This record gives sequence, C-alpha cells and structure tokens, in this order.
Amino acid sequence: MTTQHVLILGSGAAGAAATRTLASRDDVRVTLVTRTGETPYTRMLIKGIAFGPTPPEMIKLPLPQIEVIADTVLEVDTSAKQVRLTSGAQVSYDALIVATGSMPRSLPADVFGDDAGQGRVTALHSVEDALGIRKLLTGLGRPARVAIYGGGIIAAETASSLQADGHMVTLVSRSSVPGIGAFGAPVAERLAADHAAKVQTRFGRTLQHVDETESGVAITLDDGDPIVADFLLVALGTTPAAPSPWTNGIDVDDHLRAAADHVYAAGGVATHHDEALGAWRIDHWEDAAAQGAHAAQAALHDLGISDDPSTYLPRSPYMAMVYGQMISGVGYTAGTNTYLEAGEEFIVRHETDGMVVGVTGIDAVGTVYQWGQQLHGVQA
Ligand SMILES: Cc1cc2nc3c(=O)[nH]c(=O)nc-3n(C[C@H](O)[C@H](O)[C@H](O)COP(=O)(O)OP(=O)(O)OC[C@H]3O[C@@H](n4cnc5c(N)ncnc54)[C@H](O)[C@@H]3O)c2cc1C
Repeated sequence: MTTQHVLILGSGAAGAAATRTLASRDDVRVTLVTRTGETPYTRMLIKGIAFGPTPPEMIKLPLPQIEVIADTVLEVDTSAKQVRLTSGAQVSYDALIVATGSMPRSLPADVFGDDAGQGRVTALHSVEDALGIRKLLTGLGRPARVAIYGGGIIAAETASSLQADGHMVTLVSRSSVPGIGAFGAPVAERLAADHAAKVQTRFGRTLQHVDETESGVAITLDDGDPIVADFLLVALGTTPAAPSPWTNGIDVDDHLRAAADHVYAAGGVATHHDEALGAWRIDHWEDAAAQGAHAAQAALHDLGISDDPSTYLPRSPYMAMVYGQMISGVGYTAGTNTYLEAGEEFIVRHETDGMVVGVTGIDAVGTVYQWGQQLHGVQA
C-alpha cells in the first residue's frame, strides 16, 4: 500500500484536531510542525494564567502519537510541495494542512511616544503575554488600574475578570456599542449596559497617544481626555498568521481547500468563501478544531483514500463568562441580520437570506447549543 504524507503546520486547536483525525490511519504518515521552543497548549486557557493561579504546564495540549518536528515554518513552496523550516530543514508533503492560527491586531506605531516597549502595553494572546500580565498584577501589591482597548470577547471577559478581582478597569472602544462583530447587536447592547454599570467606559473613542513609562501608561483619547493606568491591554481582535507565500491569511473554498494543489487551511488562518455566507472567518476554539478535522477529511478525499466530507459549515459553539452571565453562541454570528426571539430566555437568531446561520444568547447555553445542528438548513 502507498503511504501518503500529510504535513500539518501549527499545533493549536485546528492542527491538533487534524492530527487526531489522521493519527489512527495506516494509509497516511502524519507529521506535525510545532513552533520552535513552544510546548503545544490550549490557547483559550491562558486566561487562567493571566488572572488566576494556573501554571503553564496545566494547559498543555494533548497530541496523539505522530511524528512532531519542533521548528518554525518559514515558507511553503506549493509548486515543489515542500516546506522550509527555520533550522534550514525542508519537508515534503503529499497534502498540507496549514493551521498556524492568528495574531493579535496591534496599535498603530504612530500612537506611541518615544519610550515605547516597557512592557506596559500588551496583548493577551500567548503564554508569554499571560505571564507578563500576571506579573504586572501581582507585582503592584494593590488593585491595578487597567485600561482595555477593544470590544470583543477577550476585552469583555478581561474587563469582567479584573473587575471581579477588585481592579479598576477603564474600557475604551472605538464603537459606541462594542462587540457587535463578535456577539451581534442585541447581545452587544446588553453587554454595553453591563460594562457601563461595572467599569469605567469610554465608548466611541479611539486612542490618540500612548506614553509608556517604567511604572505605567498615560493615554490620550481622541477627545483629548487622559487615562492613567498601570498597563494597557490591547484587545482589537486577530488577523490570520500564515507563513510565506501567503500575506494575509489563506482563502479557502467550501472544502477548506486553498488555491494551491493539495493545500488546505483551517482555524484562525483561514478565510472562507461560500455562497450563503460570503467571505467569513471564525477564530474560536471549537470551530477551529472542527475546521481542522474537516480539512483532514478533505485532504484524505482528494488523495483518493476517503469519502467526500462535503461542504464545511460553521456549527460549533463558544461560551464566555462576563459579569456572572454566560454569553454563548453557535455558528456564524457576525455581520448577519439579528432577531431577538420573544421568549423567557435572551436568544438571538442570526440570519442570512432568511436562513438561520448562527444563534447567540445570554444565560441560555442549552437552547443555544441545541441550535448547532439545525443551522444553515432551517428556513426562519
Ligand atoms: C485569551 C484568549 C482567550 C480565548 N478564549 C476562548 C474561549 O473561551 N472560547 C473559544 O472558543 N475560543 C477562545 N479563544 C480563541 C481560541 O483560542 C482560538 O480561536 C483558537 O486557538 C484558534 O485555533 P487555531 O488552531 O486556528 O490557532 P492556535 O490555537 O493559535 O494554533 C496555531 C498554532 O500555530 C503555531 N504557529 C504559528 N505560526 C507558526 C509557524 N510559522 N511555524 C510553526 N508553528 C506556527 C502557533 O504557535 C500555534 O501553536 C481565546 C483566545 C485567546 C487569545
């Protein structure tokens, strides 16, 4: 029997799920490339390191028995079907699954003063970021003054965690209703009111200038108002993190195939295109994992050794605890028309062309999760 070589780049939600789909097969050889020096971990659990006592060892990501190369990917030569790694090694493939995730959007360089780089302006995306935040919070010996810039899930969860721990939070958002892109308008409007009741809010404002010192940050908003904080958390969402030759993520079709032969992308790195939803990208753990498994099935199918997994449609759930309420969602919940259901629970349907493609809710996890398998096919 010929053994085909499937190479997977990136060991997060999508990469690990792809390895789990392939590991038990004897007709493929599977190799996973993990970043140099990084122990694969469950990214969404870094919150426990930043705001709680979780040690990094506790969020290790379990992987099946497959060949692992700990080496960062430099570039992919899709014509030669070869990947070049930072050590200089080259690895060939029959099928390639790119699952290199995303990176946090940063502030424009021109907002910073001369003394930038003191560690007082941070994202929360990696274990290193989480350890840095933990150190800042514990090193003060008093409640911290934290400015958060953003409005999505990470901004909301972080504001809530820090407020619950007695820290003083100022939440700044460009939008007057933060989080519409992440949660849809009805949930975002409820959350905006909760934020205003629990923390200082400066909605509809941007950061114009940030001066960093050894002991804190001095922020000037676009209306001239100042904010002084111990540190600034930038939570402006993510952009895809693909290796060369891709520059801005990888466009995939409804089977998660990229344009190049036998190349697939899954998770935060992938921008999807399909008839119903148009161009979309979801950067949640469960959806990235579902995409990784689907990309692996599509790769097997195109190698002629498995059935067609059919079109990928987002149905996976996410949850976020914000001010003691459980925000949950399934499917595609951004950029669609939203309708508040009339009922006892706070449930919102997200529709495209009259089709329910996602559902969000507040303290309604059971109902929201039940929608998962009914999406994309139920006429509203
Ligand atoms: C603070 C935080 C909290 C979150 N909370 C939640 C939550 O509660 N629920 C939820 O659903 N989602 C949550 N998420 C989002 C979730 O973690 C991501 O959507 C998910 O990890 C995306 O999976 P992925 O496989 O696309 O990317 P990742 O899990 O980020 O994996 C990508 C991997 O590729 C590696 N890589 C990148 N470039 C290279 C390269 N050149 N060479 C080799 N390796 C490379 C990276 O190091 C990484 O290991 C959270 C994210 C953060 C940052």
